[in-house]
Parts: sequence; structure tokens; C-alpha cells
Amino acid sequence: MSSDSNFVSPHPALAAGATLAQVAAVASGCELCKLAAGRTQVVFGVGRADANLLFVGEGPGEQEDLRGEPFVGRAGKLLTQLIEGIGLTRDDVYIANVVKCRPPGNRDPQPDEIEACAPWLDRQLVLIEPRVIVTLGNFATKLLLETKEGITKLRGKEFAFARAGIDAALLPTLHPSAVLRGGGKTLAEARADFVRVKRVLARARPAPTPRTS
Ligand code: URA
Repeated sequence: MSSDSNFVSPHPALAAGATLAQVAAVASGCELCKLAAGRTQVVFGVGRADANLLFVGEGPGEQEDLRGEPFVGRAGKLLTQLIEGIGLTRDDVYIANVVKCRPPGNRDPQPDEIEACAPWLDRQLVLIEPRVIVTLGNFATKLLLETKEGITKLRGKEFAFARAGIDAALLPTLHPSAVLRGGGKTLAEARADFVRVKRVLARARPAPTPRTS
């Protein structure tokens, strides 16, 4: 076997550029996993390129696949309400997903798809440098915390996320779709988690630069 056959080419995310827009442009042609075949478009992410607060969901659904924007369906409306409930708007934050292409029939993303897509999320994290990361549901939480523990045990807690030069607080919460299915108790839990996000964000924001005159 020649040594060439062992060569694994680097993920395109690593050489995709130095801005989010450049990385998104390269990602829009991604064909690294089987989800590419069924998508309308890549749903890269949306929001402020320098957001202090970054949300990570699971993967685009039907509406997101058609619109090219994460969380625009029913679950997205609830996410927007929860964000507004802590005094922010979608324009203040960044919203991304674990996988950038819609899994067929909204099935769960599969391990090979998550692995192929993860470097795009890593690039988003490195370029945005959020102070607070909120993982929405099991897939984002397990990926970023590198854990097998489920979301019901982890939600409402705060973790340190220190990787690739990023030093952020990570707070897992329920996925908005689970909140929609779960009713009043889960909605109360999600609201409580967002209040905590607000507190952590206030603490994590950089102190204003002191005036010199
Ligand atoms: N659910 C997700 O996890 N992400 C979306 O973008 C929409 C629904």
C-alpha cells in the first residue's frame, strides 16, 4: 500500500477563509455527507458575526431548508420568544446548528453526518468567539460537551467551554421542539434556563473600556 492511499485531505472548513461570510460561501457547496443530496440549500447560520451569545440547535427542518435560515419554523418562533424574554433580539445573537443540511423527514442527524459537519461549527465558534454558548437539546450538548449524558440531567447547569482559544460559558437547555411537545413544565424550565443565560451573559460581557479623559 503506498503512503498516498493513507492521505486524508483536510476538511474544507479549515481553509475556507478568515470571515464568517467566506466560510459560509465555501460551506454552501459542501458535499461531505449524504445530507447534501436531499437539501434545498445549506443552512449555515444567522446573526451577529461578533455575538456574545451563540445558540446551537440540531439541524434544519423543512422551513429552514426552504428559507436558508435556522429556527424559522414553530420551534424557531419559540426560540425567538425566549430570546426576547431576556431582553435581546435575534439580531443580537448568532444561531447555528450541529448539521447544516436538513436530515430527510426531520430524522435525527447520524454520527457520520455530525462528524463531517462539526468543523463548520468549530470555525463558527472560532470566528465569532462567543462568551456564552447555549446548546439546544441533546445533539448540540453531546457534541460540544463531549458527553453521553442526556439533556434532562445537564440543562440548567453551567459548564466551562475552553477549546481552540475560546473561553466561554456553556449552558445546555431543552430543544425548543421538545418544549413545544412538553407543555407548561418544560416551558417553565426553558424560561428558567434563559434567565440564567441572561445572568451569565451579564457577568461574561467584557467590561467597558475606561475613559482616558
Ligand atoms: N430545529 C433545529 O434544531 N434547528 C433548526 O434550525 C430548526 C429546528
